Amino acid sequence: MDKLHEECGVFGIFDMTRDDVAQTAYYGLVSLQHRGQESCGIAVNKDRDIYHYKDLGLVNDVFNNKILDSLQGNMAVGHVRYGTTGGKGRENAQPLVLRYLKGNLAIVHNGNLRNTDELKTEYERTGAIYQTTSDTEIVAYTIARQRAQSKSIEEAIERSMSILKGAYSLIVMSPQKLIAAKDPWGFRPLCMGKLNDGYVFASESCAFDAIGAEYIRELEPGEIVIADKNGIREIKAACGREKEKLCIFEYIYFSRPDSKIGGQLVYESRKLAGRILAKEHPVEADIVFGVPDSGVASGMGYSVESGIPYEDGFVKSRYIGRTFIKPNQIDREIGVRMKLNPLKTNIEGKRVVMVDDSIVRGTTCAIIVKLLRKAGAKEVHVRISSPPFLWPCYFGTDIPSRDALIANKLSLEEIRKFIDADSLGYLSIENLNAIVPNSDRTFCNACFTGDYAI
Ligand code: SF4
Repeated sequence: MDKLHEECGVFGIFDMTRDDVAQTAYYGLVSLQHRGQESCGIAVNKDRDIYHYKDLGLVNDVFNNKILDSLQGNMAVGHVRYGTTGGKGRENAQPLVLRYLKGNLAIVHNGNLRNTDELKTEYERTGAIYQTTSDTEIVAYTIARQRAQSKSIEEAIERSMSILKGAYSLIVMSPQKLIAAKDPWGFRPLCMGKLNDGYVFASESCAFDAIGAEYIRELEPGEIVIADKNGIREIKAACGREKEKLCIFEYIYFSRPDSKIGGQLVYESRKLAGRILAKEHPVEADIVFGVPDSGVASGMGYSVESGIPYEDGFVKSRYIGRTFIKPNQIDREIGVRMKLNPLKTNIEGKRVVMVDDSIVRGTTCAIIVKLLRKAGAKEVHVRISSPPFLWPCYFGTDIPSRDALIANKLSLEEIRKFIDADSLGYLSIENLNAIVPNSDRTFCNACFTGDYAI
């Protein structure tokens, strides 16, 4: 599928009253699985020693009761990964666990640094040897170096924030503390919650719902939150250092619709995007539907605003994972058909509006339109709940280089012809921020505008 991927999801838990936190981390990671499907891992802290298990594969496949029972401790960090920088091999799976001057450290990271090469060369000159090709090791190395000159691990993280440039939502586990930190631009989400006597951190609040934790709030850009035996405290020295650049595409596609980001439910943003689309690109049609899963809420919003009835257009197979699809047209078609089967009874003889979240290369969209026509659609009107992708992303997603993006090569009319739609309309860049109403947040939209914060 010509779909985008988030690079990672992170989870952390601190609870001095329990030693089975790995179980909770496991459930948290299962609910963050959409953020990365290539590898996963959990590290626990037991009496200052760190034990961990990680491997390639989905959370459900990598972990079983025996492994989880062997991971006893009262704090844990967990990670799901989709690799865009560094290789996809086992060596890049996280948590990254290291032993240094002050003991053990485990780190999980979501995002991409922009000054990896620079830092890597600088550290190599002073003798650094790397075990991985991921920029998380650069983050860990920076924190470890700063720790040698700091009174505490949190001070080392605070110092590192002046050195690391880019997107990083981190959870660090030291011998006595669990520390969550977000870069001063706040590209990727990271929130905190309360679970019984302990504290939890996660990329998305859907992980809290799964484990029965209470959502407290999103971390501020540049904020560090420390959980230890004395409770919880914050360091806000780097807050406000940069203008916030929360990824707007988290609302459109990456995050789960039942997650709250910056206090706003993602589902509501998607529905709003659909309503705006209906106003910007109205059309006469018989039914409207969203492409599962991320297009569904926007399809409903389009229906509410336009008055066109919402009907399911596809049945999605829930049991297809990341199928390897050979890069030729026939196999691609089979790949799409295996995931999405048109509901002929709803489509035949109808003028349909199909709402999807984005078009990357256009190949999948063209196949979906073809499937609808084969199912008997009289007209197919495509509506996209984001503006056209014109630029790559350097902040933790795999939006590809400019020459792979169809909107960069073809005009709107040429794209319409390429996907064989009767009409095509994108959400306008002017109305993009309106999908997060009543918010004082400011957003990154660089993949649509080329306006990069770093
Ligand atoms: S470039 Fe696009 S995908 Fe990347 S962080 Fe910015 S808005 Fe998100």
